[in-house]
Amino acid sequence: MGAPHTLRPVVFAAVAALAAFGLVSGARAEPYTGPLFDTHLHYNEEAVRPYPLADVLGRMQRSGVRAIVANSRPNDGTRALASALEATRAAGVTIVPFVRLYRNRADYNGWFKDESIHTMVLQQLAAGTPAGPFRGIGEFHLYESANANGPVARKLMQLAQAKDLAVLAHVDDDAIDLLMAHAPEARLIWAHTGIGGAPVARVRALLLKYPKLMGELSYRPGLTDGNGHLSTEWKTLMLEFPGRFLIGSDTWVNARWDSYEALMAQARLWLGDLPPAVAKGIAWGNAAALFGLDDAVEVKTKRP
Ligand SMILES: [Zn+2]
Repeated sequence: MGAPHTLRPVVFAAVAALAAFGLVSGARAEPYTGPLFDTHLHYNEEAVRPYPLADVLGRMQRSGVRAIVANSRPNDGTRALASALEATRAAGVTIVPFVRLYRNRADYNGWFKDESIHTMVLQQLAAGTPAGPFRGIGEFHLYESANANGPVARKLMQLAQAKDLAVLAHVDDDAIDLLMAHAPEARLIWAHTGIGGAPVARVRALLLKYPKLMGELSYRPGLTDGNGHLSTEWKTLMLEFPGRFLIGSDTWVNARWDSYEALMAQARLWLGDLPPAVAKGIAWGNAAALFGLDDAVEVKTKRP
């Protein structure tokens, strides 16, 4: 049984009125305009010459990025960002340095069992940076989940837990369970929240199981629809766990630096599909809380 024919024009008129106020799909909210915290940024050695410090800081500033998780292969790029105190302050960008596990590309494939990488991480942590101590480890990759049980992977997870360092891990959902088994209290940031497309139900189950697990959202398949707006299932998940998601650029190749401002604009578009407080948390507040950033950082600086 359908509605009586006479009611239909009334229903259509009501839907049109709601659409005009952006309350139903078809009419979209404006993109998010507040501060961004880029929690997945690399300033790798091949980026340094084509994108000098002033250039990358300009890209961040024009994008409204007020803080970054900085890491690089090797760690020199991070050190360059963390040493440029005057330039980063002028750009209004707070640097949160992470120790990368990679001295070169070969390290991607064997770090989890390479004792010399464990030693290098300890040395970097001891040295710190001009912008303050390292706040995390990573990004690291595990192309096979079983390698999460490698001796150095286990030691680094336990080190992170003991020193309250965050861990940025590009891994599959099975490896999340294995890594968390080593260090159940570790603050693990799941890079891309499953780049292989772990089902949303599985992501939800992991967020419930590990209260400190956070999800970074670059490259996440299914996050947005063909128009760059948030998919229904991801919007539902974010409303269920508003404090658990982060945004990132993942400038892993130079092409990502070319499109840095477009990437941040894409994030602003789908963030605009969320209630303002949820959008601001995912864009900025969740990461600011994770790293104890003073909220003054965001009010001290102005958008260019
Ligand atoms: Zn990355």
